[in-house]
Amino acid sequence: MDLGIKGRTAIICAGSKGLGRGCAEALAEAGVNLVINARGVEALEATAADIRARFGVEVVVVPADITADAGRDAVLAAAAALSPTGGADILINNAGGPPPGMWSDWTRADWQKAIDGNMLTPILLTTAALPGMIERGWGRVVNITSQSVKSPIGVLGLSNGARAGLTGFVAGTARQVAPFGVVMNNLLPGIHATDRAVALDGAVVKAEGISMQEAHGRRAATIPARRYGTAAEFGATCAFMCSQHAGFMIGQNISLDGGGFNSTL
Ligand code: NAP
Repeated sequence: MDLGIKGRTAIICAGSKGLGRGCAEALAEAGVNLVINARGVEALEATAADIRARFGVEVVVVPADITADAGRDAVLAAAAALSPTGGADILINNAGGPPPGMWSDWTRADWQKAIDGNMLTPILLTTAALPGMIERGWGRVVNITSQSVKSPIGVLGLSNGARAGLTGFVAGTARQVAPFGVVMNNLLPGIHATDRAVALDGAVVKAEGISMQEAHGRRAATIPARRYGTAAEFGATCAFMCSQHAGFMIGQNISLDGGGFNSTL
């Protein structure tokens, strides 16, 4: 399928590895030029070089912490310089997830960090990108959130709370910008085979004294598909949500979880 977005410009936040990288690769395959961001320069440069070589698109790297004002300003400026229209057409909001823990241990500082990373950062980037998208009459925003928005994961309470705030913002704003050709949705990962999943499995290994293989097997057994998802599957879904064909999909929360969320609707 031709996604109809060749030549567009996308910002991929937190895109050197994992789900963000999956989105970057799928958009590049559709002919989209990219600004990709992460804190670690080495992995970021390696990912950019690989994407340029495989897909022949332009890839600009912005090594920065996306949860800081300076990082957000830098990715927006890079997109403005790269795009023929002067700004990002597509914004993929992403950042690292909060650490697991216990509700009784989280301080105000822990909450502030989670809210900064998983709620305020995507809201502020969206707020900065929307005026240009509205003016040009076309835009796509996809927020990488989590299945924890629909079905709480106790140890990830910081994620449950912060991402719920983002979800509320998107629900209202998506409908306000839809008349201008701007399409905003959330993509909710279930368990995917990335470094993040390895870190969460590692926490179970430590807490319960079991092997990594057992921790992985136990979590995979909770998923009807009986396996972890892949970054490539996630990226392909994201690219469709950024495509010309997704213009009627407004303010949705799309679960990609192998059937993990048990519901009829
Ligand atoms: P990952 O494999 O650990 O990759 C995280 C990526 O984000 C890396 O490129 C990392 O690079 C970058 N990053 C982290 N913090 C950043 C920051 N402050 N500024 C800029 N870049 C940053 O993680 P993932 O599995 O792809 O997860 C992506 C998001 O989906 C996370 O919020 C996670 O909580 C959520 N999620 C994942 C799963 C899953 O099963 N994988 C499930 C539900 C939700 P640097 O470290 O070099 O910055």
